[in-house]
Amino acid sequence: MIDNEEEYLSMHPNQRKWINECSMCHHRGYKPNILEQLYPYPPTETRNLRCYFKPLALNNEGICEDCDKLLKQKQNKSY
Ligand SMILES: [Zn+2]
Repeated sequence: MIDNEEEYLSMHPNQRKWINECSMCHHRGYKPNILEQLYPYPPTETRNLRCYFKPLALNNEGICEDCDKLLKQKQNKSY
């Protein structure tokens, strides 16, 4: 079974460039600043990404905020 997100991306492969994927949990979301980058005329397909994905910010290591927090908790425990 293909989920809606994957189906949308396979129909609009050029939209994949706007998708972030966390390298730890493989959670996907759109890059939070895409609409600003495309302002004032974001293509409809890109605006529709927001129907399928939530914004997902990644840090420099390609890790989402949640995993980043988990990592830091683990690091704190090991001290
Ligand atoms: Zn993650």
